[in-house]
Amino acid sequence: MSKPNRAFAAVLFTAFLLKFPLAHAQPDPLPAHTVQQQAGGYKVRVGDVEVTALSDGTIPIDLHALLKGAAPEDIDKLLLKSFQRNPLETSINSFLVTLPGHQVLVDTGAGQLFGPGKGGRLPERLASQGLKPEDITEVLLTHAHSDHSGGLVRDGQRVFPNATVYVGKPDLDFFFDESNQKRTGYEQKYFDVARLTLQPYLDAGKVRTFSQSEEVLPGITATLHPGHTPGSAFYKLTSAGESLTFVGDLIHVAAVQFPLPGVTITFDQNQAKAAAVRKAQFASFAKERALIAAPHLPYPGMGHLRGNAGGGYDWVPVTYTDREAH
Ligand SMILES: [Zn+2]
Repeated sequence: MSKPNRAFAAVLFTAFLLKFPLAHAQPDPLPAHTVQQQAGGYKVRVGDVEVTALSDGTIPIDLHALLKGAAPEDIDKLLLKSFQRNPLETSINSFLVTLPGHQVLVDTGAGQLFGPGKGGRLPERLASQGLKPEDITEVLLTHAHSDHSGGLVRDGQRVFPNATVYVGKPDLDFFFDESNQKRTGYEQKYFDVARLTLQPYLDAGKVRTFSQSEEVLPGITATLHPGHTPGSAFYKLTSAGESLTFVGDLIHVAAVQFPLPGVTITFDQNQAKAAAVRKAQFASFAKERALIAAPHLPYPGMGHLRGNAGGGYDWVPVTYTDREAH
């Protein structure tokens, strides 16, 4: 892109931020107990593969306004049971998968899209792992929402110049066809964000899509689970008999949606499908004792689901380890 074009892109981007300051509207102020963490990563080993959770930051969200299928007083009761309150400080997690010859990111956080201080920490967290944006070879998007694809671009330019971006084809088809906005009533801002974040990679020939279950990288299989968005995908990493499934926005709020999987969030493009997928997948993950990784569960967002007597699920975060393997 030439210099004037670049300047023009920056102006467009600023205009976009002013028009859509927050893709998912977030209330202030921050809860009084909010603290800032030091940069770093949280590593787990899956077979022979190292996976590092990287925090893009946290953001308070107003569950009374956003959750559907639970009354505000019931939401508050469930939050209280988990020693939390509304608005809920919510993680934005990305995950780094280190394969031979590949540094793979699963989702990229919000970038600049939520405004200063709200998300956008992924580059510094990568730096804490000794990695530059140029080192990322692939980005696996669970879906094309602002807090997953936002980190792909900065001032309209690609942040990861050497990365190929994988995304479910139905997301690309849906968000890049304006008639779907009018047909479904899904808010215009979602369409704008998907285009803003993916177009620079499309222009560079750096986007790959999948329409069915597909091994996108050695040991990583993508599957489509439409509901939250039409192209919402899981990525299952398998190595030496172990596995970890990146589930995207299958869940946003542990305190509410593990006991009540039928509760949805306004961001779900198809509310009924999103609830059905969540119920089915929770049951299957609990039965299989599967290890999962979720962008919005409290950092590091990795752990297991366990069915409970109340008909819901408990969340069991991964066991902390900090020693050298021998
Ligand atoms: Zn989402």
